[in-house]
Amino acid sequence: MTYEMPKLPYANDGLEPVISQATIDYHYGKHLQTNALVPGTEFEGKSVEEIVATAPDGGIFNNAGQVLNHTLYFLQFTPQPNKHEPSGKLAEAIKRDFGSFDNFKKEMNNASTTLFGSGWTWLSVDKDGKLHITKEANGSNPWRHGLKPLLGFDVWEHAYYLDYQNRRADHINKLWEIIDWDIVEKRM
Ligand code: MN
Repeated sequence: MTYEMPKLPYANDGLEPVISQATIDYHYGKHLQTNALVPGTEFEGKSVEEIVATAPDGGIFNNAGQVLNHTLYFLQFTPQPNKHEPSGKLAEAIKRDFGSFDNFKKEMNNASTTLFGSGWTWLSVDKDGKLHITKEANGSNPWRHGLKPLLGFDVWEHAYYLDYQNRRADHINKLWEIIDWDIVEKRM
């Protein structure tokens, strides 16, 4: 079994001006690869989620984490969102656990701008339905800690440097405009 990035459900220039075509060409293209480390190991046939949850630190874990992270990342965006905040169960959980949608955004933005070095910020849900914001170093993912990821911001410089240089906060602020909340709600 190999793991491949999904086809993008939008054109490479579809997320402009929030994310430029050049960044998508580079960022998505760069990760459009199969995981060659898995065949012949004990992880063959396992899902990327299982591998991320159980593999020891090292190449297989890093590779599976980046495939999983970027799959969740690229599929959570849309050129034309039909709404700019979640509804239903997710909206209720955000209100309960963060006070308001605005405060949740503030906490996601803050986690993203204060993450030192390369990594990811995630909104996740635990087995009791409670929401969490976590910062993950490098290629890790909330599955590593038994949490199910719903929404992830890639804060490696490669995700924004071409468009925003070192202005990570500006990039994160703009990402809210292209989130497909229907997709994020379905992940709950
Ligand atoms: Mn990336």
